[in-house]
Amino acid sequence: MIKPMQATKADITKFEADAIVNAANTSLIGGGGVDGAIHRAGGPEILEGCRKIVARQGSCKTGEAVITTAGKLSAKFVIHTVGPVWNGGHKKEPEKLANCYRNSLKLAVENGCGSVAFPNISTGIYGYPKDEAAKVAVQTVRDFLKESDREIDVTFVCFDDENLKLIEAQLNA
Ligand code: ADP
Repeated sequence: MIKPMQATKADITKFEADAIVNAANTSLIGGGGVDGAIHRAGGPEILEGCRKIVARQGSCKTGEAVITTAGKLSAKFVIHTVGPVWNGGHKKEPEKLANCYRNSLKLAVENGCGSVAFPNISTGIYGYPKDEAAKVAVQTVRDFLKESDREIDVTFVCFDDENLKLIEAQLNA
């Protein structure tokens, strides 16, 4: 039996899950939106973790994901993934966004996480249309969970009513 996915409206920095996902940028040095909120709430340990990763493997490419400590947050890990900037929809944005969800879940499984919380990746500063992003997010997670032999609780932690409604519509579809 696959556990059903959940959606809620909340601040992801306060959400209790083994891993929370950050919508980062390729430099991993922090930015605005959810990225800034996670670094502010989690403290400097998260940035230290990001810097070590950059020193080891360079920047994080769009669609890829890396994992660090969650610092002062109640989560054990922060999984940083880089969503695509919306560029009209013909620059492989859907594939790249799907990779974010898939690669984040892979890392969560590899690190023994039983619960993961996602923000609505790319739907802020990166301008991805929220309805399109919701479809990709839910479909990709659904497919991953179907194929996985591990049970993972996945929650979409939305920051605004519009995203919450769109994700809920996809969950009920
Ligand atoms: P991106 O650059 O990937 O678009 P943003 O951080 O600008 O990243 O936005 C991604 C989503 O995260 C947006 O829907 C935004 O409303 C949401 N967001 C911003 N702050 C928080 C937060 N504290 N908790 C959960 N979601 C947040």
